[in-house]
Amino acid sequence: MDGGSHPLESLVGDTADAASPIGTKTTCPYCGVGCGVLVTPSTDGLRAEIAGDPNHPANFGRLCSKGAALGETLALDDRLLIPEVDGAEVAWAVALDRVADAFRSAIDAHGPDSVAMYVSGQILTEDYYIANKFMKGFVGTANIDTNSRLCMASSVAGHKRAFGADTVPGTYEDLETADLVVLVGSNLAWCHPVLFQRLRAAREMRGTRVVVIDPRATASCEIADLHLAIAPGSDVALFNGLLAHLVATGQIAPDYIADHTSGLHAALECAAGMSLAEISRITGLAIQQIDTFYELFARHERAVTVYSQGVNQSSAGTDKVNAILNCHLATGRIGKPGMGPFSVTGQPNAMGGRETGGLSNMLAAHMELADPNHRKIVSEFWGVDRVPDAPGFKAVDLFEAVHDGRIKALWIMATNPVDSLPNADRVREAIANCPFVAVSDVTRKTDTTELADVLLPAAAWGEKDGTVTNSERRMSRQRQFLSLPGDVKPDWWQVQEVARRLGFGGQFNYRSPRDIFVEYAALTGIENGGSRDLDISALAELTPEDYDALEPVQWPVAPDGPRRDTRFFGEGGFFTPDRRGRFVATPYKPPLSATSDAFPFALNTGRIRDQWHTMTRTAKTPRLTAHYSEPFVQVNPSDAAQYEISPGDLVVVRNEQGRVTARAVLTDDTPVGIVFLPMHWTGQFASAGRTDVLLHANMDPVSGQPELKFSPVAIERFEAAWFAFAVTRSRPAVAAFDYAAVAPASQGGNRAELAGLNTISDWQTFAESLLIGRASDQTSVLAYHDRETGQHRFAAFEGDRCIGLLFAAGTPVTASRTWAIEQFGRQISGADRFRLLAGRPGADVPDRGPIVCACFEVGQADILRAITSGEATSVDAVGACTKAGTNCGSCRSEIGRLLDAKIIAKAG
Ligand code: SF4
Repeated sequence: MDGGSHPLESLVGDTADAASPIGTKTTCPYCGVGCGVLVTPSTDGLRAEIAGDPNHPANFGRLCSKGAALGETLALDDRLLIPEVDGAEVAWAVALDRVADAFRSAIDAHGPDSVAMYVSGQILTEDYYIANKFMKGFVGTANIDTNSRLCMASSVAGHKRAFGADTVPGTYEDLETADLVVLVGSNLAWCHPVLFQRLRAAREMRGTRVVVIDPRATASCEIADLHLAIAPGSDVALFNGLLAHLVATGQIAPDYIADHTSGLHAALECAAGMSLAEISRITGLAIQQIDTFYELFARHERAVTVYSQGVNQSSAGTDKVNAILNCHLATGRIGKPGMGPFSVTGQPNAMGGRETGGLSNMLAAHMELADPNHRKIVSEFWGVDRVPDAPGFKAVDLFEAVHDGRIKALWIMATNPVDSLPNADRVREAIANCPFVAVSDVTRKTDTTELADVLLPAAAWGEKDGTVTNSERRMSRQRQFLSLPGDVKPDWWQVQEVARRLGFGGQFNYRSPRDIFVEYAALTGIENGGSRDLDISALAELTPEDYDALEPVQWPVAPDGPRRDTRFFGEGGFFTPDRRGRFVATPYKPPLSATSDAFPFALNTGRIRDQWHTMTRTAKTPRLTAHYSEPFVQVNPSDAAQYEISPGDLVVVRNEQGRVTARAVLTDDTPVGIVFLPMHWTGQFASAGRTDVLLHANMDPVSGQPELKFSPVAIERFEAAWFAFAVTRSRPAVAAFDYAAVAPASQGGNRAELAGLNTISDWQTFAESLLIGRASDQTSVLAYHDRETGQHRFAAFEGDRCIGLLFAAGTPVTASRTWAIEQFGRQISGADRFRLLAGRPGADVPDRGPIVCACFEVGQADILRAITSGEATSVDAVGACTKAGTNCGSCRSEIGRLLDAKIIAKAG
């Protein structure tokens, strides 16, 4: 400490500043980038102005389309506001008694391992800590796991094998100072958009080389110098080959290897066993492409390898991680500016969960259940003697245990396993048949809440208060800026109340999240002294005011204060017993399932740009549903031709577990033999869009993370007798149709894509029922029928106000969705009413086409007009003409493709 200042002084801002006139400083609740957000709520608290926090080190003021739309997601209409037991609203005491009774009965009759919690990377660090303390310390079971198991458990396991601890060695800044960034199984452009923007800006400044390794050509390829369309699951072969190449060509760091690592020989023996020709055969890459990548990596000392779900969600996920880490250990490119392996997490607090023992094999503060000394430290700290010595069920196994009756009472918190776990129909069956299920959630109606005995209304973003940790180990405050609506309570309070009812009140006396945080911070320092990576014990002294004003800070924050350079392992110092980093032998193994004649396609899954997880928040704003408003399946055009699938057709994707119906998107971005489905749609938004019903529950043997990127499927055209697009006043019930997908539209309306297997004999009645419901003197319907082409169009009015439109045909409907949605709620009279039946604007009104830029709602047609007129010949010029791509930048790759297509068309 110098100059007498406290080492934490820089971390504690001005309390008043946390809720200053520029808005409350908080953190985005979506992805693991962890952007700082400034929020100014409206007086009724139902909307808010949102801006990126220019001083937050994760985003420096930037936001992506999802973050920028946060202010439109605060409405309460879909919220769970009152506790419910068996479908009836009750007082909190009744609901909590019921949860405690169910847990007590199961524990008394069947032991502590008969109860379980399944929590989420959406909950805050304080919630995570108290839930783990409750289960592992007081109930005496390790049966608490988190949906982060589905996201990055393989990275955790890989880190622990190589580093001796789950340590992310680098910082975001490394992506900006690297000369080479390799994105493996990471569509950074859509899944971590602000980090992608930082990388793109750095690339423009300093010419960073970028390699994308992904079976699909994703939006991240916009900035790629090299795209390796690797065969699914073959990453280990590619990185083993890289290790062998680096060693064979002498492009390693002998001193670093000698001084700080062990195990190179065995890892190399395994890695070098495959010829380049064999690697080429397994990965599906040309030898020349592989050579180019190996040489790029060898040449650039400042190299960062970013990896995400494409690596983790695999039956060989942990080996993939270690194959990558091996290459960084061999070159000593770790923990130094511009160098290192970098796991980016999906969820806003996946890291906080890892830190507080959210995984069923971990204890709080990065301690291990399997380590007797760690168990002793935690037991003494909590004053208990029942910390289990065996790991609990990992997520997939947990729901198998629910299915076969070993789990009698289950508490699900802030997650939707009926849609997000593999073999999702079996998970639904398991939850439906479990003797007792409680769900804490903010949303009243999800596919999981529908199955609960007890519903506990939880505080949402803006209502809850605590901390989250982003992918670069930076802890930031999520601050409350709204009062709690209805009877809503934070998750930590709910756990504390149940703990008290089970007789553990002496250790559950927290008055606020700050009380929990300082206890957790103190635990990280016990018997640490640098022996464990995670030490934030300097924060154990935070007063309530300090906690309120806490600035974003990267750990460690040991008693001597925050480190200037928070990177790890640049000079060794691993957390293995001999403090050496370990090379791990990683034999290549293909995915556990294989395609066959019956199921000839490999199903790949992932996120899209404007939706988050199961859409409970992002589907509340029309701005975010405009980009993709229904489930879609990407199919290569040559595969589509073979199955007579045309653009806009509906496609059934099926296997022995289930089926999904989705709109065909034909694209060369998806290779032959692979189809891609987004992960987001649930039974609340589509009739058959739950992707995870198709996914096999194959798991990585080390991490327990399921293989969500590879399941064999078949495809066929959905033989619809009719297709329709509707804008409606009431939300159509998706289950009533053979195919339906609904989303909110502007002015409080709904947009619906519909299709049926059987012809409709009376379209008029169908339209009136869909668009009007109960007719009145004020309502009227205009109709147009073309029997020859099978087209039926309807416009419904209440007085002069348009209250619905329906366009139906025997083939996929081509009506302009953007234009039709804009007509909803408008006063339209006279002849103009008939214009609505055209399904698109007249020649005097330009059609915007499908929305490409969600931030400024710029349509594809607007962009094409700018390109075709010659005004715009680059992405930046399109931005200057239309504003598209000038805010979050997530749509820039789509703009680039529109430009390319026009240039090619012109050249042709
Ligand atoms: Fe939120 Fe977007 Fe930042 Fe992720 S990149 S934290 S979703 S604003």
